[in-house]
Amino acid sequence: MGTKTIKQHILPASSLGNARTLTVIRYGDQTAGNKVYIQAGLHADEAPGFLVIHHLINLLDEADAANKIDGQILLIPVANPIGISQWRDERLQGRFDFFDSINFNRRHLDITAQIAERLKNRLQDTPRENVALIRETAGEVLGSMAPRDEAAYLKHLLLTLAHDADVVLDLHCDEQAVVHVYLGTPLWPEATDLSAQLGAEVTLLAEDSGVTPFDEACSRIWWNLAEKYPDFPIPSACLAATVELRGITDVSHARGAQDAGNIFLFLQRRGFIQGAAPAVPPLRNEATPLRGVEHIKAQAPGVVVFLKKPGDRIAKGEVIAEIVNPLKDGMENRITSVKSGIEGLLFSINTDRYARPGRVLAKIAGKAPLKDKGENLLTS
Ligand SMILES: [Zn+2]
Repeated sequence: MGTKTIKQHILPASSLGNARTLTVIRYGDQTAGNKVYIQAGLHADEAPGFLVIHHLINLLDEADAANKIDGQILLIPVANPIGISQWRDERLQGRFDFFDSINFNRRHLDITAQIAERLKNRLQDTPRENVALIRETAGEVLGSMAPRDEAAYLKHLLLTLAHDADVVLDLHCDEQAVVHVYLGTPLWPEATDLSAQLGAEVTLLAEDSGVTPFDEACSRIWWNLAEKYPDFPIPSACLAATVELRGITDVSHARGAQDAGNIFLFLQRRGFIQGAAPAVPPLRNEATPLRGVEHIKAQAPGVVVFLKKPGDRIAKGEVIAEIVNPLKDGMENRITSVKSGIEGLLFSINTDRYARPGRVLAKIAGKAPLKDKGENLLTS
């Protein structure tokens, strides 16, 4: 008999008569100690993740029918019911809350301090006991909060569903990009099998990106508590990752099925699904620091013509794009060259082909941390 259940959570209405719902699909034993949480569309305009979940449902339905799911697997196919309703001028927006312009994948809850307070004199001598204690305590902290604002409620609900998971995958996509993965530094190299299986060209590591995206809200608790209580064994017990599934128009059944298959194999290898997975494919490129990513910005307004594409290796000083301004006199004045300040891998470029000074045109992953990055390591 299958174990699959589908539940809908109702969000508090922000406007009269307009309550939205969050749908949660569960497979496996809901009391099992090992748990996976996968969501798509926290940035609701990013379609590839939805399609990957569609293909993953097919694979998990099959595994469930064969009684092969060990532990518990949660899927949140549409993680942002607020953003998914943001149609404006014939385009789905979905990245920023219309109410306060806050990015839906920023400023998630950081409950480390509340957990730490409740852990005083309670930590044990074995990692296993502490993992159980911390998860239970995180659940208590979350249970003591009751946000009423719709977006705050949603963030709280997502973390409540994910806080005790061993693996959290937050599926996103970039503008025009190769597959890349964001992870907490302490999770590397243990999470090599994830990046390798997904075929990620780039893995970006940070202990704290400065803006608390959802993956960090799940995983950072662990190393922050370990730092606060150095005398007790506290492992990084949640492998949470933001997975960027190429670019926003990279939507096809072939790719969706391939990505879902890769996630399935990763979960199988990690023991959440029975069966023997093949050997992990080789990692394409070693992880690099998130602080080493150069955001290349336009210096002038004009039409952007990219000379390089995502996946290209770039030398320091190499021209990656030209900004063309037809109002200027003389060929040399009409073209502004956009150069890379570092050596690295070009992994994302903007889909818009019109530049404005200061706008991010491209992202290059370099090996060395950059000095002038400041506290916020992600784009808005
Ligand atoms: Zn996103």
